[in-house]
Amino acid sequence: MDFTLPDEHEMTREVVRDFCETEIKPIAQEIEDEHRFPEEVFEELADLDLMGVPVSEEYGGAGGDYLMYALVAEELGRVSGSVGLSYVAHTSLGLMPIIKFGTEEQKEEWARPLAEGEGIGSWALTEPSSGSDASDMDTMAEKDTAEQSSASPAPPEAEQDGDEYVINGTKQFITNANVANSVLVKAVTDPGAGYDGISTFIVDPENDDGFEVSTVWDKMGLNASPTCELQFDDVRIPEDRLLGEEGEGWEQTKKTLDGGRISIAALSTGLGQGAFEAAREYATEREQFDRPISKFDAVRDMIVSMDRKIERAQLLTHKAAVMYDNGEDVTRISSLAKLDASEICREVAEDAVQVLGGYGYTTDFAPQRFYRDAKLMEIGEGTSEIQHLVLGRELGL
Ligand SMILES: Cc1cc2nc3c(=O)[nH]c(=O)nc-3n(C[C@H](O)[C@H](O)[C@H](O)COP(=O)(O)OP(=O)(O)OC[C@H]3O[C@@H](n4cnc5c(N)ncnc54)[C@H](O)[C@@H]3O)c2cc1C
Repeated sequence: MDFTLPDEHEMTREVVRDFCETEIKPIAQEIEDEHRFPEEVFEELADLDLMGVPVSEEYGGAGGDYLMYALVAEELGRVSGSVGLSYVAHTSLGLMPIIKFGTEEQKEEWARPLAEGEGIGSWALTEPSSGSDASDMDTMAEKDTAEQSSASPAPPEAEQDGDEYVINGTKQFITNANVANSVLVKAVTDPGAGYDGISTFIVDPENDDGFEVSTVWDKMGLNASPTCELQFDDVRIPEDRLLGEEGEGWEQTKKTLDGGRISIAALSTGLGQGAFEAAREYATEREQFDRPISKFDAVRDMIVSMDRKIERAQLLTHKAAVMYDNGEDVTRISSLAKLDASEICREVAEDAVQVLGGYGYTTDFAPQRFYRDAKLMEIGEGTSEIQHLVLGRELGL
């Protein structure tokens, strides 16, 4: 077993770190204060060929693997939780499902622009009344033939293609939806069929009538990553925008979250790393009682403990990514990595604020931002409580 990163991965990490240090770190607090999605950062990530890292070159990606993608997420998290969150939502949730479950035509039309960085991806599962119990959704997609819809004239595209779906409902907390090229929307196509009655649709936020971003949430952190409420009011889309087959939406969701949780683990590791580095640097410079505070056992122990925890989070995350690349079942390991790394991230960020004392409580220093951003890692893509449910199931409990 070799724990050394392959050269190509190490090089990618160096390139991304350099980019993060020069282009993202200097604006990381500013974009939060302005609640601004940094389009220019994503354009530059596209120029670096990083918007489709685990996607093959055939579909406009970088032809890397999931480990390489996790390293990029880690590096982004080390400087900006918001950039990292929008990046992983784009890749794991908005792009990868089209690559995994889409037709050749869908990959060309909808995945390629995302992988090449010409558009941002988004994925809509959660609803106002169904979060952890996500399959209990109310959003409906009803099949409507061209003939049936003749009473209310359909758009020309639908007339050419024949059948279409009509989507109605509300989605909640959807990352990137107001800046997205496409939103993958989960909806019920067969109300009596439970998990097998859910399907996935590719919605075009710019051109599909009846789609509206009704709210962009103000949050305790991650404010440069937009979190949206979406309304679907008789949104008519052609049947060729169904992803996979009718009824496959829930299975797709589980597979998507297996990959997504690895990227949240990577992002958490990066956030923790950023907080740890800020604390270590400060502790060696700040003097009290005529010596650097790092010389006090209590402070040194906090910093040593951060290092120990981050190493653990990173090992689990990289293991999960390598297993994903090997095509193994990653439900357990991705859930473990997400659960552990997200808790570690919050603990490390909290201790980092403590190490900086009063300055840690000000927005002039980064730890407070990592601390606020860290909390989401324990909530998004399944809360910690839901990870315990998943892991209990995996253990046959
Ligand atoms: C910033 C942000 C970005 C997000 N991005 C996206 C996105 O891009 N796409 C998307 O679809 N969703 C997204 N979400 C939604 C996120 O996945 C949900 O918020 C999360 O799954 C929890 O759902 P909920 O908020 O409805 O909480 P609830 O499900 O109402 O949970 C409330 C509390 O009850 C607990 N709980 C619920 N059920 C159980 C149980 N069975 N056992 C024990 N405890 C339980 C939970 O753990 C939690 O502590 C995002 C959320 C945020 C805040």
